Amino acid sequence: MDIILNCPQCSAEVSLEEDASVFRCQYCDSVLMPTGRNEIQSFFFPPKGTKAQVGQALLDALARKRMGRMQMEGADLVYAPYWRVAGLLFQHAFGRIYENTLYGGTAYDYFKKLRAVAYNRTFPAFASDHWEVFSLGLRAEVMKMWPYNKEKMGKEALVIEEDVPLERAAEMALQTPYPGGSGDREKIELLKTELIGERYSLVYFPFYCFSLTQEGKAFLLLVDALSHKVVKGRLSLSELKKQSTREEVPYRPLHFIPFKCPNCGWDLPFRPKARIHLCRTCGRAWQETGEAFREVSYNVVLPAESANPDAFTYLPFWRLTVTISGSQNSYENLWDFYELFPLPRVLNKEMLEKRPIHFFIPSFRIRNAAAVDRFAVQMARNQPEFHVTETEEFRDIRAADVWLPMDEAVEMAHILLFSMIPKRAKKTRKEVQDAQLRLEEGRLIWLPFVEKGIFLREVHHDFAIQKNCLELD
Ligand SMILES: [Zn+2]
Ligand SMILES: [Zn+2]
Repeated sequence: MDIILNCPQCSAEVSLEEDASVFRCQYCDSVLMPTGRNEIQSFFFPPKGTKAQVGQALLDALARKRMGRMQMEGADLVYAPYWRVAGLLFQHAFGRIYENTLYGGTAYDYFKKLRAVAYNRTFPAFASDHWEVFSLGLRAEVMKMWPYNKEKMGKEALVIEEDVPLERAAEMALQTPYPGGSGDREKIELLKTELIGERYSLVYFPFYCFSLTQEGKAFLLLVDALSHKVVKGRLSLSELKKQSTREEVPYRPLHFIPFKCPNCGWDLPFRPKARIHLCRTCGRAWQETGEAFREVSYNVVLPAESANPDAFTYLPFWRLTVTISGSQNSYENLWDFYELFPLPRVLNKEMLEKRPIHFFIPSFRIRNAAAVDRFAVQMARNQPEFHVTETEEFRDIRAADVWLPMDEAVEMAHILLFSMIPKRAKKTRKEVQDAQLRLEEGRLIWLPFVEKGIFLREVHHDFAIQKNCLELD
């Protein structure tokens, strides 16, 4: 879905892709960064056709249907709020799959599946039991939306107040059933659903509400102000008119900050999909926090000293130092960790007890979530150690953009815990099921990879990922 804005420099109407963090005005060429894109924002869809036009068309249609003579007593434009959630959905399903045996009995095996798909949903943010329009569905994907602006929405327009708070919306977003393929034969015993990189916005959808009378009887007809279809819905106009007309923006309005490095003043590289922007002049990294840029400190792992740093591709990871509290025990060091996720080799207790648990969470832009999950599991199992440095020379290097902010990386680490459970390991599953992760430290680290055929291979430990599983440019 595109967001329509007025360029703050030249006031031309420009559009911004929903998941972009920066835009370039095609008219005046200025590059601007709308702030608050990581937070909730409010948008609206303008209606098509005026009250009078749509009202007349409605009367004509009713007349054609021989519904009798009706009188139009009034017409109102009403905006109803919907939550819109977009992100990546990860869903782990653990359970048993049953099969008929040759001798008429049944047998079962355990299964474990990961579903990782793009997620886009809209659902009502108001008490909508009496409404037919539950979801804006696919329609919303192709429409253009505007930042909430009561003036543009119409001074007289009525706005239904949202009464589904964000916390509830987040719960609802996660209530995504697991699509069962083989029906009754699969019994799901544990389902873990998580959204990564999700964005919540509140979108106001227009309806025309016509007050009609027929032989002295009054009634209301609601019309979808975009498709002009009559929708079933109950609404108390008098209640609504008593409420405020919501002049203020329900959630943050869009503001703009210059897309320049706060440290050196040079333009940041134009990377609309990045969430953390790396200055190629002074080498500092910045994350937009709603008002301004905040510096994100990072480290780099360099290839062997003799190697030419330019020959490598650097991929960003969040190195999260965590402790895990499971349903029985807590896991504070690597020895504990390997008690939970055993490795098939002899381990040195004394050494491992001194090392913390690290998760390396890929923070580049993902194309194939399931493959990236497998890759991250491989790193989590092996708990690699890297020699990190701070380098001034990082700015010219081929470095992938950072798409995942740290708080999202923590959620991703939680998913990884589930990804690491072997499918038949009921004990581990029980222990992880309600496990909490405590973040001790988080650090952004770029690791060097070298291209070999279709793979990118991490230089020091040879972790490999297919190039087409991520977006590099
Ligand atoms: Zn402009
Ligand atoms: Zn700079």
